[in-house]
Amino acid sequence: MNYVRKICPVCGSEFSVLKNAEEKAVYCTLECLAKVQETSGNREGFLPAEQ
Ligand SMILES: [Zn+2]
Repeated sequence: MNYVRKICPVCGSEFSVLKNAEEKAVYCTLECLAKVQETSGNREGFLPAEQ
């Protein structure tokens, strides 16, 4: 199976995911996902904060 390396946009950690799960795996842990949902109230993905 192929793995790809990704960088978590919340904490900056590098993590590996299966290539066929790459699209779903954006954050390294559910904890990081929860942080984003708390902050943005948006479940549709991570967007950079507006300046
Ligand atoms: Zn993370």
